[in-house]
Amino acid sequence: MAKTMAVNAGSSSLKFQLLEMPAEQVIAQGVIERIGMDDAIVTIKYGAEIHSERLVGHSEDDEHITLSKDGKGKKYENVTAIKNHQQAINYMLQKLTDLGIIEDFDEITGVGHRVVAGGEWFNHSVIVTDEVLAKIDRLADYAPLHNPANAMGIRAFQKLLPDALSVAVFDTSFHQTMPDENFLYALPYEYYTRYGARKYGAHGTSHRYVASRAAEILHKDLKQLKLITLHLGAGASITAIKDGKSLDTSMGFSPLAGVAMATRSGDVDPSLLYYIQEREGLSNEEMLNILNKKSGLLGISTISSDMRDLLEVQDTNEHANMAIRIFINRVIKYVGQYIAEMGGVDAIVFTAGIGENSIPIRKMIIDKLNYFGVVLDEEKNNVRGQEVEISTENSKIKALLIPTNEELMIARDVESLKA
Ligand code: ADP
Repeated sequence: MAKTMAVNAGSSSLKFQLLEMPAEQVIAQGVIERIGMDDAIVTIKYGAEIHSERLVGHSEDDEHITLSKDGKGKKYENVTAIKNHQQAINYMLQKLTDLGIIEDFDEITGVGHRVVAGGEWFNHSVIVTDEVLAKIDRLADYAPLHNPANAMGIRAFQKLLPDALSVAVFDTSFHQTMPDENFLYALPYEYYTRYGARKYGAHGTSHRYVASRAAEILHKDLKQLKLITLHLGAGASITAIKDGKSLDTSMGFSPLAGVAMATRSGDVDPSLLYYIQEREGLSNEEMLNILNKKSGLLGISTISSDMRDLLEVQDTNEHANMAIRIFINRVIKYVGQYIAEMGGVDAIVFTAGIGENSIPIRKMIIDKLNYFGVVLDEEKNNVRGQEVEISTENSKIKALLIPTNEELMIARDVESLKA
């Protein structure tokens, strides 16, 4: 059977998942971190049950393999010098062969790459051509930290696997269906035509995946549903999905907008920034850095960007409590807005790190939405990381917990472009 690799290349890391397609079976997944350093870290999980079994054991050696409790799952780890993405991918492919996960590089017939910014050029996933790569390079203006790394990953894979189909899957493409009243800012129109200054959104692959699963779980045609998908991770975005299409989303020109996130501010009055910059003597770069890295849950709580830490001390630490209240408040505002925009909602879907794992956060959000007719089943909500309907039988609006799976979506897109 053909194998497809889903790749997420960052500036100093590369995450991958290898799937048997069309069976959609994950056969290996891993990450190479600290690319460019003498002590890069390579981790590859493989073998049966790689998702469900916690790996046990420890070795003092740099290069070692640990076994899961049931002996079926394995984890390879090594710390070694890796100069660049090309070397990282070469190392990873070689290791997949050494570990017996693949016999030959040729077994990998498709590689799907996550690309952060697709601008208005890409409203769906595409086969990578020279022209596509040139556009991804040009779109670096919109995602300076991400697109260059994504393009680097694409080029490196093309060199090592020249015969595999190379596909780009854009975070923004799902949101290209937004109508102009939702994607335009009320700024002089010429900034849109001249610079593409508009809302692009993000997390599109995740919103698209959970929406399609929600329709399957509810046994409804996605095109007949009104959904609000809550991707609540370190980065968080909320999307209104109507007729199977993204109608509106909380992230904006960049992933800084929308709800308060782990370290990102979300929406702020732009004139306030100028006011703060003047008083603090901050450059534009410094101000942007504060908005991206020092705000959100971290900025308000002053103690942590991790929701788990805040929940633990919320009863005794006023700032942790405040950060949680602000997070919930911003989520609720978007949900309310989207219910109004869509003229109702059939189901609300929780996904990503916080959405999948935090029982209390889901409860706080749903309890605030009772007025609209959504009622939480506390027992059903008492789970983590599983697909489950968490609203009561009689709840007018359904609430669903659906773990996201962007890698599977990427692999499916590769598969559909192979035809
Ligand atoms: P991203 O992909 O944006 O980096 P994830 O979707 O992996 O983020 O989510 C990571 C976040 O999920 C962490 O910041 C952490 O706060 C949160 N998280 C994970 N598990 C829990 C939990 N049990 N309770 C609350 N938050 C959690």
